[in-house]
Parts: sequence; C-alpha cells; structure tokens
Amino acid sequence: MKWLTFVLALVAGTVLLAAAPVAQAAPCMIVTLTGTMGGPPEFNGLAGPGTLVRYGDDANNCSAVKMQFDAGRGTVMRLSQLNVPPAQVNAVFFTHMHSDHTDGFADLMQLRWHFNSKGPKVDVVCSADTASILGFTISCQKFVAHLADAYIHSGEIAQRLSEDKSRLAGGPADLIHLVTFEATNEPQVVWTSGDVKVSAIRSTHMAGHASYRVDTPAGSVVIGGDAGNDTLAPPRTSSTSDEVEKLAQGADIIVHSTIHPIMAPDKGSGMFPQGYYRQSAASDLGAMAKRAGAKHLMLTHLIPPVGAERQGPWKIPGGALTEADYRTAAQEGGFTGNIIVGTDLASVRLPAK
Ligand SMILES: [Zn+2]
Repeated sequence: MKWLTFVLALVAGTVLLAAAPVAQAAPCMIVTLTGTMGGPPEFNGLAGPGTLVRYGDDANNCSAVKMQFDAGRGTVMRLSQLNVPPAQVNAVFFTHMHSDHTDGFADLMQLRWHFNSKGPKVDVVCSADTASILGFTISCQKFVAHLADAYIHSGEIAQRLSEDKSRLAGGPADLIHLVTFEATNEPQVVWTSGDVKVSAIRSTHMAGHASYRVDTPAGSVVIGGDAGNDTLAPPRTSSTSDEVEKLAQGADIIVHSTIHPIMAPDKGSGMFPQGYYRQSAASDLGAMAKRAGAKHLMLTHLIPPVGAERQGPWKIPGGALTEADYRTAAQEGGFTGNIIVGTDLASVRLPAK
C-alpha cells in the first residue's frame, strides 16, 4: 500500500513538473516581411518577396518553429538581420515558381549544405507539377532537384566535398525533404509541427500557384502570395482571389502582394495588361480583409515600390507613390484594421507586446 502511494506521488509529481513550464510560457507568433520588392525588377536594396513566420512562447522569443514563405532575392541577408541562420529554418513554402519568389533559395540551401550538411533536412512545401493550358509544366519538384546544378557543374560542390567528406554528396538538393500537394479549391493541411498547422489552397496567378494559412495557438496568418482573381480581367467583382478569401476567414493577419490601381492599363503605365490583372489591387485587398474579418493587413510585393520613379521598364503615372497612397487605397476598400505598407523587416507580433 505504501509502495503504491509512493508511485502515485511520483507520477503526480512528474505530471506537475511537466505541466508547469507550459502554464508559465505564453504562446506567441511573429510575422516578418523578409522582402517586399514587387516583382522581378530591383529597387533601392529591397529584398525579393518572402515572409518569415515564427511561433513559440515568451521563453524562446516566439522562435521554436520557423517557417519561410517564398525566398526572393536577398532572403538570407534579411534573415541574418533577424539572427536566423539558414540552419534554423524548419520549412520553406513556395507560393509559385516565379524567380522573384525563389531566387534567394539557392543561397539559403548552399549555406545550409556548406555549414550544416549533417542535417536536419529542411522541408520544402509546394504544389505538385502543374501543366498549363499554354503547353508548359510548372515543376517545383524539378526546381528543387536542380537547385544547385550550377554549383555542381562549376566544380564547386566536388571541391568542397574534397575538403569535407561529411557533406552530402549530391550537394544542397540532398538536404531538402520535398513535400508536394495537389492544390485544390478547398483548404488542405499540408504541414504540421506541434501546435502549428499550415493549410494551402489553389489560387490564380500562374500554374501551380498556392496560398497558405498558418494556424497557431497565438493566432493565424494568411500568405496570399501573388494571388489574383480567377477571372483574369474585368468585368469582375474584385481583383482578389475567392480562394484566398475563403482561406482567410477569421484570420488575424493577411500578408498579400499588392498592385496600386494607378498601374491599371487604362491609366498610362504601359504595363502589359496580364501583368496588372493577375495581381490583387490594394483597394480590393482592403475590401477582402474587411470581409474576412482580419485585424492586420500587411501589404507586400508592392507594385510599384514606395518612392520608385519606375516599375522596371514601366512608368508610374503621376510619379512615385507614397506610403499614404497605399494606405488610402486599402482604406478605400473599407478596411479599418491595422494596415502595414510593407518595408523589409516589418513585423507583427501576436499577441502584441
Ligand atoms: Zn511576384
């Protein structure tokens, strides 16, 4: 009997010990824009599009899980400003295979292979191969498999292997654990880690485009990517994606690529119509964020960037835009929550500190 009491006391003690830290540490999430450049052109040192979502608790500065959504030009540089080395990223999600969203990824993986080849592997989550009606196939799987081919062909991978034979023989691609999904018009869970759940939905921009939602006990964020409406040109009720709106219902934060209505084909920018119409306009994003009930709208991938005199080769009718121009456009859509006109490293923490 005494023995049983002792065992019960031991079990109770263990349960208390295990439960105690959980009760003390409040869950939190930080969403940071790692790059806000709108599209392939370069401007004023802005990094290419990407969003880092960190989740954890007060004790680890919300950083137990680190998820990178898209990895445009300069992603590693922005992550370095956040003290997040490539080895700490748990998963990379791609919205689509346009180079402005992907061309910082080889940098990240080359570094990870160079210094952390023993692992763990990084999960790369993206759409399965998608054939376009235009006759080509978009393949994240091939992009990943051939990520470091240039470094293999230059001889660098062999040279570095000769210096450290514990590195993976196939180069950076060997450090990737690929997770693909068939993107559909309903949200599906594509990745989980502890309390964190990531869902994806198909959206329109180019073949294979997907948008994501991260749900955590601290809150939720939707990363729309470059999604636009399934109806590719007016007449239509909105330039935003119905699928993203479905995904975003009740989400705390919406991060979304943005085009300013001043770039519309009838206003004289000279931008090719398809390039304009396949993005979501700032005013329509404000309306969507309101309908979805979001608290924060983070505008990123701004076309054109604030202060730019041109968007690549195209004019900006009326001259460079200001932060207020974007804010006003989003407010015209009816959104009364917190609007962040994205700059590199802009962040939202849930709950606010
Ligand atoms: Zn883009």
